[in-house]
Amino acid sequence: MKPASSESFERQALIDLEAVRHNVRHFLEVAQPARVMAVVKADGYGHGAVPVAKAALEAGAAWLGVAHITEALALRAAGIDAPILAWLHTPESDFTAALTANVDIGISGWEIDHVAAAAKEVQRPARVHLKIDTGMGRNGCTPERWEELIGQATAYQEEGLLRVVGVFSHLAVADEPRRPETDEQIDRFRDAVALAEDAGLDLEVRHLANTPGTLSRPDAHFDMVRVGLGIYGLSPFENERPADLKLRPAMTLRSRVANCKRVLQGQGVSYGLRYKTDAPSTLVLVPMGYGDGIPRTASGAQVEIGGKRYDVVGRVAMDQFVVDLRTAESPDLVGEEVTLFGPGEDAPGAEDWAAAAGTINYEIVTRISPRVPRVYVDGEASNDGGVPAGSDA
Ligand SMILES: *Cc1c(COP(=O)(O)O)cnc(C)c1O
Repeated sequence: MKPASSESFERQALIDLEAVRHNVRHFLEVAQPARVMAVVKADGYGHGAVPVAKAALEAGAAWLGVAHITEALALRAAGIDAPILAWLHTPESDFTAALTANVDIGISGWEIDHVAAAAKEVQRPARVHLKIDTGMGRNGCTPERWEELIGQATAYQEEGLLRVVGVFSHLAVADEPRRPETDEQIDRFRDAVALAEDAGLDLEVRHLANTPGTLSRPDAHFDMVRVGLGIYGLSPFENERPADLKLRPAMTLRSRVANCKRVLQGQGVSYGLRYKTDAPSTLVLVPMGYGDGIPRTASGAQVEIGGKRYDVVGRVAMDQFVVDLRTAESPDLVGEEVTLFGPGEDAPGAEDWAAAAGTINYEIVTRISPRVPRVYVDGEASNDGGVPAGSDA
């Protein structure tokens, strides 16, 4: 097998770390004086948590955010010593390992006793961020129980078992800036912070905004913003593309043509024969499918070959899908580069694949499977001038 590189590839997710840095710098500017937490959960939304985290920190992100303690420990194992917050736990989560690795822990309620016990065991206070549910109805402490949680936290803090360094919450509808619920969430967040401070907690960071909240609600910035999607250069808004927001998509998903053949009118394509050519045509085979994380429901998407866009036709299968060139007069394209999505002007964006598959761009990039090699470049991802920055990190 040929080694994965930015030039020699058959299927790859090319990640431009300079695009990540550019996006982080943009968010630093938008959010200042608030700090930026780069959210790198789910393997950096499919981009590779460690290389993205390092690039984000180089560009000035002050914190890293992940869902699981295991994700935080993987960053520590890679030598990253920036502050990390992990916020989604079960009673099986390894709080002891988190404290030993100096990982901050988000607490919504029940976790507090487990974290205090772990702190007793390792004999160092846990750094915790208390999470208030300001309306999302997911994780977080309800406003009704908030004072009780503050009471528990204060008691444990007095025992020297934990130190409350943050209060945070999460926005539910910030991608729809006109909706009034965000105002209500911001108000509830202010009240929750005030109660914590009145109880004597000396907070380092108050944080509420995700990517859409950071871009559309300066009044939600507080001390820090938690930016995920935006650092990967994608837009959280339905009607705005990355360039409209001065963002640069970091991932290019590309492959090469595996077969190219003339067919007659009426040729059925792929399982179920849901598509038939309406004239003699040329069909091109792309060796990527749902086993690579391409949604099976994405027929109707497009790819770019040689600067032109063509339609994906028939069902996406496990390993492959078909593109109809809608001409019988094509040269043989076997081996030609096919871009599924990327930052280039000619190529579709992850948002186009999301629209075709009935989902969101978050899911399109995050679900690209480990079967697709990640390759890293620094600058001008999809052009030939890219400098390989290592592969499969
Ligand atoms: C995933 C997540 C984020 C990042 O959201 P984006 O919309 O990708 O910026 C921020 N905070 C929490 C709690 C999250 O779970």
